[in-house]
Amino acid sequence: MKCESCGKPAVVNKYCKTCFIKYFEKEFKKGLGNLKGKSLCVAVSGGKDSLTTLYLTKKFYPKNKILALLIDEGIKGYRPHTIKSLKKYAKEWDIPYKIVKFEKPLDDIKGSRACSVCGVLRRYYLNKHARGFDVLITGHNLDDEAQATLMNVFMRYASRFKRMTMPLVTHKLFIKRIKPLRHLSEREVMAYFILKGFDTPMDECPYARSSFRDVVRTALNEFECKHPGSKLNIIKAYDSLNISNSTGHLSSCIYCNEPSSNEVCQACKILRN
Ligand SMILES: [Zn+2]
Ligand SMILES: [Zn+2]
Repeated sequence: MKCESCGKPAVVNKYCKTCFIKYFEKEFKKGLGNLKGKSLCVAVSGGKDSLTTLYLTKKFYPKNKILALLIDEGIKGYRPHTIKSLKKYAKEWDIPYKIVKFEKPLDDIKGSRACSVCGVLRRYYLNKHARGFDVLITGHNLDDEAQATLMNVFMRYASRFKRMTMPLVTHKLFIKRIKPLRHLSEREVMAYFILKGFDTPMDECPYARSSFRDVVRTALNEFECKHPGSKLNIIKAYDSLNISNSTGHLSSCIYCNEPSSNEVCQACKILRN
């Protein structure tokens, strides 16, 4: 197969290496939008998605204030490897970083709800520690987003469904989030990461295997195989719903003072149990 834009042998999708990198970076830049003069906090786990996000954010906005923020969930044998990657690349790309640990390591929070507990805490810490920056940039790719959309539909999580792209309630304590990889698939991010010569452990979170997300991921991949474009169509369908958030009132948690719709926020409920 030949590259659609230059005629050289194609390596990824319908592109040669040079044209694929060009296509990928153009899509990323589109997803980033105009961030001129803004201070940027990039959520980084040290995996391929977030490192790609960090690298390209710096590439397109080299003069902006950028911080790489890593939330360490406390998963033995997993997170320490990618922390090493973050440190290595942050130094190479000249980007300051900050590591925030879960007050209670995920390994000590027992139960089968590890993934949802982790999700709540991760969002909580990111929002709290990215405060003061204009935007929070995360590395969610097309697969992550399509999976999350379907999961929220299957589980009838109406509120989670609504807040996938923005907080339910506009509040000055909620930082604006941007997901520049939202239209790029896991496969494309992986290809970009490898073609650029980057390297990081690709092992999966030990909790992921038993999760509902994993069931959805497998089904969705099968479906995409038979009906290419399905993942993108899920995201587009979601976006076309034009969900708006309210400007209703939010109170704050009696323990941590973070914005919350209940007396005690979700994170404190988990951490104080
Ligand atoms: Zn080409
Ligand atoms: Zn709280």
